[in-house]
Amino acid sequence: MAINLAEIAKKKKIKYFLISYVDFFGVLRSKLVPAQSIKEMQKEGAGFAGFSTYLDMSPSDPDMAAIPDPNSFIQLPWQMDVGWLAADLWMDGKPVDASPRIMLRNQINKLAKKNMHLKSGVECEYFLISPNGDSIADQKDIADKPCYDQSALMRQYDLIRGICDSMIMLGWGPYQNDHEDANGQFEMNWDFADCLQTADRHVFFKFMVRTLAEKVGLRATFMPKPFIDKTGNGCHAHLSIWNKKGKNLFLDKKDKLGLSKTAYHFMGGIMNSAEALTAWFNPTINSYKRINAPVTDSGATWSPNTITYSGNNRTHMIRVPGSGRFELRLMDGATNPYLLQAGMIAAGLDGLDKKSNPGNPVNVNMYEEAHKVKGAKKLPLSLNQALNNLNKSKVLKSAFGKDVINSYITLKNREIKKYNSSQEKRIGFKKSKSNKSNIITQWERDNTLDC
Ligand SMILES: [Mg+2]
Repeated sequence: MAINLAEIAKKKKIKYFLISYVDFFGVLRSKLVPAQSIKEMQKEGAGFAGFSTYLDMSPSDPDMAAIPDPNSFIQLPWQMDVGWLAADLWMDGKPVDASPRIMLRNQINKLAKKNMHLKSGVECEYFLISPNGDSIADQKDIADKPCYDQSALMRQYDLIRGICDSMIMLGWGPYQNDHEDANGQFEMNWDFADCLQTADRHVFFKFMVRTLAEKVGLRATFMPKPFIDKTGNGCHAHLSIWNKKGKNLFLDKKDKLGLSKTAYHFMGGIMNSAEALTAWFNPTINSYKRINAPVTDSGATWSPNTITYSGNNRTHMIRVPGSGRFELRLMDGATNPYLLQAGMIAAGLDGLDKKSNPGNPVNVNMYEEAHKVKGAKKLPLSLNQALNNLNKSKVLKSAFGKDVINSYITLKNREIKKYNSSQEKRIGFKKSKSNKSNIITQWERDNTLDC
C-alpha cells in the first residue's frame, strides 16, 4: 500500500516537510511545506520555476511539479519536526527527462527489464574548513601523513559523532569514520543499498554534514580539490548487480578476482564510456585539479589518471577490493548523486549488450610506473575536454536522449564562459606559481566550495 505522508506526519509529529530535488549542477532545491498541506502535495507536487535553477529551461516554461517520493522520507535527526523528501520533477503531466532523478529512474527501469538492479555504496570525502573557506578548521592538523590520525579525528568527535549517531538513528548502518589522507579531511561509511536509495542518502548526507558542521561553527566542503597541495575529495562507488531472487550476478568465486562475466562486461562498458562520463563524475573546473594531479604533501593523490583496472590496488580507476563487486574511483565530491548512479548503469548496460571486455588487470603502481603500461587511455585534462567527449558519446546519447545530453552541455558551457571571463581575478589559496593549474582560483572557491 502506498505510504500516506499525512499519516506519517501525525505519527511522527512532523510539522513541516522539505520537498526537494537536485538540479543538473547537484544543487539541492526545496520548498518547506506545512504538514497540513502534505496530502495535496503528495498528489499534485510542489510548484517550481525550472529556469531559476540549473535545468535547461526558459522563463516561459510552465511550472514544474516536484512530486515527493514517500519512500525517500527522512526525519531530520537534528530537527525532529521536519521531514525530508526527495521529489521527481514533472511538467505538463510528464516526467522531466532532463532532470537527474528521472534520468536515474529511467536507467533503473532499463536494467529491470533484464531482471537486474544495481546496489551501490558511496564514500563521500569532505574537508572541515573555516567558515570563510580560507583554511582547514583544525590548525593543529599539520602532519605530513595525517591519514587515520587519531588525535585529529577525536578533536572533531562531537561533530563526527553527531553525524554518525544520525545515520544510526536513520537505519543507514554506518560502520566506520576516519581522518582521511589530507589535513582536515574525513570520510564516513555506511551500508550499500539499492542505487536510488543510495543516491537519495548521498544527497541527504551532504546536506546533513554541511548543516551539522555549521552548527558547531565550521564549514564542510566536498569540493574536489580545495587545496592544491593536499589530496582531493573523492566519491568512490562500490557496485554490484543483483537479480530479483537476491543473487549477486557479479560474483564468481572461481574467477581470480571473484568477478563474473557479467561484472567484466559491465566494467568494460564503464571503461569504454569513462572519457565521456567524466563530464558528470568530475563536473567542475576544479575537478580536473584532482584527477591527473601531481603528487601531494602526503605522497599520493589517490585519484586516477588513466582508464585502467586492477585487483586490490588503489592507483587505478577501477579497483577490485574483494569478490562480487568493484570500486569505481573516478568520481569526486562535486558529482551529482543521481548522475553518478545513472551514468554507471547506462555505460554498464552498454557493456552488457556489447559483451565488452575490459582486458587484463594492470598490476603496477600507476603513480610511479604508468610509463610501463602501453596503450592505457588517459582521462580528460579539463571540463571542456570532458564535455566534448560527452557530446561525442553515442552510448550516453542513446541511453538518455540527445536533448538531455545537450541540455547538460549547454549549461556547463555557460559555466565555463563565466569562469573564463573571471580569469583576471584569479587569487590562489597558495601563492601563484607561473602555471595556472597550480592554483585554486577565487572563482573556483566562490562557485565550488559548497558543491
Ligand atoms: Mg577515502
